[in-house]
Amino acid sequence: MSQTKPVIIVHGGAKTISEDKVEANHAGCRAAALAGWSVLAQGGSAAEAVEAAIRVLESDQTFNAGFGSTLNSEGEVEVDAAIMDGATLSWGAVAAVQGVRHPIAAARRIMEEKPRLLVARSGERFALEHGLEMCAKKDLISEEQYEEWKEDVEVLDRPNTVGCVALDINGNLAAGTSTGGTNGQPQGRVGDTALVGCGLYADNRLGGCSTTGDGESIIPVVLAKSAIDALAGGRHPDEAAQQAIATLQSRVEGEAGCILIDCQGRIGWAYNSEDMAVAYMNEELSEPATFTGKEQPLAAA
Ligand code: ASP
Repeated sequence: MSQTKPVIIVHGGAKTISEDKVEANHAGCRAAALAGWSVLAQGGSAAEAVEAAIRVLESDQTFNAGFGSTLNSEGEVEVDAAIMDGATLSWGAVAAVQGVRHPIAAARRIMEEKPRLLVARSGERFALEHGLEMCAKKDLISEEQYEEWKEDVEVLDRPNTVGCVALDINGNLAAGTSTGGTNGQPQGRVGDTALVGCGLYADNRLGGCSTTGDGESIIPVVLAKSAIDALAGGRHPDEAAQQAIATLQSRVEGEAGCILIDCQGRIGWAYNSEDMAVAYMNEELSEPATFTGKEQPLAAA
């Protein structure tokens, strides 16, 4: 059986990236793309690669996922994550969980066991019972986020959800997304990230997608599934992504971004926020190509 050429793309959120954060966004996305790529290059599955890449972003306080997430109204890190497998349409998700070091790992474990969305204590209990890394709730709070919350400063950067789509050598696609939600969100608020069709979608017949942005706008236009549906007829992923974002803008005046890989391994992305951090990697590149929207790619495609 002939092998598919693997490819991986990650995003670090649709947002405004202040000048002093540009480098950290490049570095974080690059490291995540490399982590996922090393899984794919060794013949690992797309879902494994997605988890590996998102774990890196969840560990990096530059991004609003895992450690360094934005704080809710009570000053807590409360996160959502989901993953979907394009071969089986299987999926798993957690929402409003605390003290789980890598929410994407919990989502993947749920997917493997039985597709469902586990919120708050049930998600935390699942992670604990399945031997996933737990931590004190406060260990996920970065100093920068705590200061911003305490001072109640007006934050210029919108929160920066992370996501990944990967295509493995067996032609299977997977997509995953992880977030700390929105600045100062009420306890228990859940956005698009944990919802299949909104924050992510993967179907081997068309492609995989991860989204980021204003969850309350992404949900009513079912952004990830809309972008995937726009791939029908062989439309290029860049065009499909632009079409989905244009619909979001015209129908609900939302601000968001999305990354896509189609079933042929072509990549694309679009956003209507000021910036979006993106990195991708394939066999033709010796280093991931990284972008923040503020300058030319660091590595040419
Ligand atoms: N989509 C995330 C949420 O609404 C936030 C973001 O991507 O900025 O929870």
